[in-house]
Amino acid sequence: MYFISTRGGERVTGAQAIVQGLAKNGGLYVPETFPKVSIEELQSMADMSYPERAAFVLGKYLAEELGADFLQEICEKAYSSFEGDDPVPLVKIDGGEGLYVLELFHGPTCAFKDMALTVLPYLLKKSCEVTGVNDDILILAATSGDTGKAALEGFRDVPGTKVAVFFPDEGVAKMQRLQMCVQDGNNVHVSAVKGNFDDCQRAVKRLFASKEFNEELAKKGVRLSSANSINFGRLAPQIAYYFSSYVDLLTSRQIEMGDKIDFVVPTGNFGDILAGWYAKQMGLPVRKLVCASNRNKVLADFFKDGVYDVKRNFHRTMSPSMDILISSNLERLLFEISGRNAELTAERMASLAEKKEYSITAKEKAVLDEEFFGGFASEDDTIEAMYEVFEEYGYAMDTHTGVALAVQAKYKEECLKENEKDNTPCVVLSTANPYKFPQDVLYALSGNDVKDSFKGIKRLNLLTAMKPPKSLLNLRYRPLRFKSVVENDLGKMSQLILRFADGEVVPVPKTEE
Ligand SMILES: *Cc1c(COP(=O)(O)O)cnc(C)c1O
Repeated sequence: MYFISTRGGERVTGAQAIVQGLAKNGGLYVPETFPKVSIEELQSMADMSYPERAAFVLGKYLAEELGADFLQEICEKAYSSFEGDDPVPLVKIDGGEGLYVLELFHGPTCAFKDMALTVLPYLLKKSCEVTGVNDDILILAATSGDTGKAALEGFRDVPGTKVAVFFPDEGVAKMQRLQMCVQDGNNVHVSAVKGNFDDCQRAVKRLFASKEFNEELAKKGVRLSSANSINFGRLAPQIAYYFSSYVDLLTSRQIEMGDKIDFVVPTGNFGDILAGWYAKQMGLPVRKLVCASNRNKVLADFFKDGVYDVKRNFHRTMSPSMDILISSNLERLLFEISGRNAELTAERMASLAEKKEYSITAKEKAVLDEEFFGGFASEDDTIEAMYEVFEEYGYAMDTHTGVALAVQAKYKEECLKENEKDNTPCVVLSTANPYKFPQDVLYALSGNDVKDSFKGIKRLNLLTAMKPPKSLLNLRYRPLRFKSVVENDLGKMSQLILRFADGEVVPVPKTEE
């Protein structure tokens, strides 16, 4: 199976795409063709465990090159680190309107990024082996909060790898920051960067693209790779849970084979929802993919007008992992709706970089309308949606999922305008554990403000009787290891990484007893 760049010029294998991360011309790797999952295969997934389902879907892209047994083995290993019997429980919310929440946050760092980042280290090591790359791999990641921690945990002390994570100083939640800044392991580095996530992501992308910087690293026998969703190895494991939730609806007799369902996805970088669109291309019966944005509603406007325009203010919200104006993975979708026109995709990306906007044609817009619904939720909409579901059904969700739920309600309203009745089941993807954002969740559910995250956890526990994850509770007693804030300056950031590549690590402070 081969992969090509959205900006043309390259054709590589899956293992090469995973090792490289980003194509040489700045494009993203996409599968040359979408492999298909037949109805019989979908049916056969009913008898599989989640790791088996994940290995099966991954195998469609990578089994030829990496081996089906290998994929099976690594999915077993990765998802055994999840809490509970089922790594991805599908929870029915209502009394019969067909609303479900797919909980993707039971991994080691309590966010959906674990779905892929527990698997990626294995994929990457194997891909290096297969392609004969002997260099050390340095994972460089910009994070809006959750990718960073999941990458650090996933790659911690994995021989032959190092992880450097940059997060926006003004942009992540307290628990997210704490999770990253206490990270242990001998191959990790964490820094805050001045500015917001877009600034941070832009700087990291420029480092990836810098020939000089890559050559400096190459002299040290180190090669860059990415844990962001621009890497196909990060995207691929995310396709699996769309299939799995469909199969769960089948086996619990909520739907019949072939029935179409909707998915609502709280969106930032457009990686999660793109995986859903990939699942649809592979044959999963999906009606609409609902793209939910918070106040940073560039995507909602894009789905409405066909213009992607980032000339606007950036807002900090309660859902920081979605505070993004430039959604990297949209490039993959643009490539597809343009009829796989690499030249046009490259032009649009250049326009985005230079003029801060681009637009699509009416024909392309019609394709989007068919497949997607874009909506956004204000902070108040989000709080109300979270409160209502808690009041009505006793279900507590995090702020990102709250955005999705608020947009789901708007979407249903639109559906009912067109048809009197709409019984299409709707799966809302839940991307984080509510305890990851305890103060905001407590406020939404009870109107109570508390000053401290751990007090928030305690109060939320009393209110919901839901068990807080140990990994979050323990943060309270862990000393901070990473305290530095760097300027958003390529020179300073690259120096820092070069020193880290040389083996300089921040010592782990002793835990006070
Ligand atoms: C990353 C993240 C998102 C957004 O996912 P994308 O793939 O970037 O669109 C939503 N919610 C949470 C909690 C996240 O960590």
